[in-house]
Amino acid sequence: MNTSRLIEFSDEDLAELDEVACAAERITPALGAMEVENVRNQARAGAIAERVSRRQSASVRSQEMVYRSVAAELAGVTFTTDRSMQAQITQAVEWVECYPATLAAWEAGRITRGHATAVLRCGTVLPRDGRAEFDAAAAELCVGQSVGRVKDRLDHLAQELHPRTLAERHAKAREERRVSVTPLRDGMSELVATLPTLLAEGISDRLNEQASSIIDARNAPRDDGADADAGDAEPDCRTRDQIRADILCDMLLTASPLVDPTIDGDGNGTLGMIRAKVQVVVPALTLLGKDDDPANDTTTADLVGSAPIDPSTARALAGVTASWERLVVHPVSGQVLCTDSYRRTASMARFLKARDRHCRFPGCRRPAIRCELDHTIDFALGGPTDIRNLCHLCQRHHSMKQFTSWGVRQLGGGVLEWTSPTGRIYIDHPPAPLVRFMPSGGGAPPPDEGGGAPPPKPAPF
Ligand SMILES: [Zn+2]
Repeated sequence: MNTSRLIEFSDEDLAELDEVACAAERITPALGAMEVENVRNQARAGAIAERVSRRQSASVRSQEMVYRSVAAELAGVTFTTDRSMQAQITQAVEWVECYPATLAAWEAGRITRGHATAVLRCGTVLPRDGRAEFDAAAAELCVGQSVGRVKDRLDHLAQELHPRTLAERHAKAREERRVSVTPLRDGMSELVATLPTLLAEGISDRLNEQASSIIDARNAPRDDGADADAGDAEPDCRTRDQIRADILCDMLLTASPLVDPTIDGDGNGTLGMIRAKVQVVVPALTLLGKDDDPANDTTTADLVGSAPIDPSTARALAGVTASWERLVVHPVSGQVLCTDSYRRTASMARFLKARDRHCRFPGCRRPAIRCELDHTIDFALGGPTDIRNLCHLCQRHHSMKQFTSWGVRQLGGGVLEWTSPTGRIYIDHPPAPLVRFMPSGGGAPPPDEGGGAPPPKPAPF
């Protein structure tokens, strides 16, 4: 038997380690108490919103506006977005109202935020009035366990206490079906569809079968005895995964839906005619193909409000498609040089899209292409349709400006000054222009317009 100990701690090391452990024992409950204080404070904000919205005329819309406005007030002083703060407030209200035992254990440092979050997540399957029993049992279950270990047991506990059958719950869960996009690195993104299992498996199986057919076809010998890959065409070397992804894109971007409420008596519908619309910012030299030089590989085009895309994709888009809007920018200054030549009418809107890139409420990143152009001073009140009086706001923040006491004015150069209902001021600057790389040999001088007010004129179209 090997009795030697591989790692030796000196008495001094052990004494200090003991001190650190003691400090952690002291810090954990203190931290828990502070976090719970924060949760109770956020829940209080929720209660204010609840109280104010009850006093209003009580349309669902105006109630939502009250919550947004309150969340934005708290978001400003905690350096977060109002969307995120509204979610935090909702969560805080739920903790306070439905999980008092969990909150008390957290406050006493017996469990952590991770445990309390797991309890809240697992408890959401239960009806609101059935959560008290779960809360009491869940808080005890968590004590002394790591979050990872206790999650499954919390899930089971919630299922045991659930008064409804799986069939009933599935009918409810189906309402949560959705599709979302998450940007990844290197010009890739993840398209996630949350669907009933049967449909998700069905889609996956169909992609598999179609991919198999393609693989079989390319491997089959041709009638004339020649190899299928012989001839001028590039051999198809795609993997099964790649083929599945390609088929998915092909069908989603080009096929017409089976159920089309716009179909007329002759069987013609418009849904199948709708094409993807994505805005891309392309540095001028990318268009010329000069950045295939690896030394210039920092050059990218930009999918507005989302993520960089690679130069060859950008060139392909700029060359052939009418579905993607093109904005060509100066490679050094990022100044807009020109936009789509075949859609001149909206040149001002194009310029503003390039300037704003996203919603101009502080912290919001909703891409301009999904925003509305807002007259800062209302058109009906004499506000001009001018780039100095226009900016992009997403629907959420557009209605917040309209229906709450959040105020905004333009300071010139695209700079906005927002004032919260309690009088706090937030300055929102337009995003920095895309500065990519210096053209070799000095290149063209930057355009004349410097920063600051008055804002640059729209590029000549
Ligand atoms: Zn917004």
